[in-house]
Amino acid sequence: MLTRCSVKDPYEVLSVPRNATEAEIKSAFRRQGAKHHPDRNPDDAGASQRFKELNAAYQILSDSKKRTMYDRFGAAGLGAARGGGAGPFGGMPIDFSEIKIDGIFGDLLDALGIKFGDRGDLQLDLEIDFNEAAFGCTKKVNYDRLVDCVACQGRGAVKDTDFIMCGTCDGRGRVRYQQGVFPIAVERTCSVCHGKGRTVQLACEGCVGVGMKTKKCNLDVTLSPGVQSGSTRTIAGRGNIGRGRKPGDVEITVKVRPHELFRRVGDNVVCQLPVTFAQAVLGDEIEIPTLDGKGVLRVPPGTQPGTILRIRGKGIPKRVVGGRGDQMIEVVVEIPTQLNEEQRLLVVQLADQLGESVQPQRRSFVEKLRDLFN
Ligand SMILES: [Zn+2]
Ligand SMILES: [Zn+2]
Repeated sequence: MLTRCSVKDPYEVLSVPRNATEAEIKSAFRRQGAKHHPDRNPDDAGASQRFKELNAAYQILSDSKKRTMYDRFGAAGLGAARGGGAGPFGGMPIDFSEIKIDGIFGDLLDALGIKFGDRGDLQLDLEIDFNEAAFGCTKKVNYDRLVDCVACQGRGAVKDTDFIMCGTCDGRGRVRYQQGVFPIAVERTCSVCHGKGRTVQLACEGCVGVGMKTKKCNLDVTLSPGVQSGSTRTIAGRGNIGRGRKPGDVEITVKVRPHELFRRVGDNVVCQLPVTFAQAVLGDEIEIPTLDGKGVLRVPPGTQPGTILRIRGKGIPKRVVGGRGDQMIEVVVEIPTQLNEEQRLLVVQLADQLGESVQPQRRSFVEKLRDLFN
């Protein structure tokens, strides 16, 4: 029900199973890396992006620490994302440095579309049916979010003595570097300890030192009648929590599944109605689908192909002004394709009888033609 398309799973990128051995991962990368290498695909603009993803996937899965990290956090979240949740990394900063994995891991995940931001906001897609969108609905949304690890209370290490001073910044939390061609030293936050000045020496086993774990949770989302595909709902405070931060939000994007028969145009519902040649000529009462179930439509005698018939008040409920839109029915006249000899003769007889007098469009066309050449 919930999807998150932009994020790539390294196992899927390399087309290997979750329990693939190191050798299998290596050979998958060799095989696919050779095929997608940008040098071998000079005319394919997408090749370099595919190669970047393959490379990132390989670097994550070929390193046992990064693979463990991904399995514990990334895979759980991504796996759930496809079945009913979202990647827990959505917007939550994680100090990979604390488990002695450098910021490169962050870059690798970034190459696969797994982003890091300052807030713990999560983005989910919620798919609903056409009728649910028309009349409103309440849906249960299941998803994963990150919360503080209970075992280490979010510290990443079990005891306070399990930390050591950060060697990169000598415990200062900031490092100096030189920017550009000018020899000006600039200070920035240490990317290894993220400004804390210390790193985890002995990681908590429950969370591999991250200090956070994924937790399954759910939300009831009520959508009012007439909700549009692509509209969003923000539920405050239900995103990732932890590290003493204010909890992030959950932003839900509504995706309305297309209907087999109906199309929505504003507050109106549009559908096509195939009728026989005889029904169009003679008129008929025809059973039709409406949003409220079966209905009956009177097709008047002499209905032309493409005529739009309207049933008032059978469309989408109007949110602001009240009432409902209309149902618009486009008449499609089906011409018989296979006639036996007897039927063919009947049509010939009918044609002789009708002449041009009873066919308004044909008559005006012939008149215009006459004007044109006289
Ligand atoms: Zn922990
Ligand atoms: Zn540091």
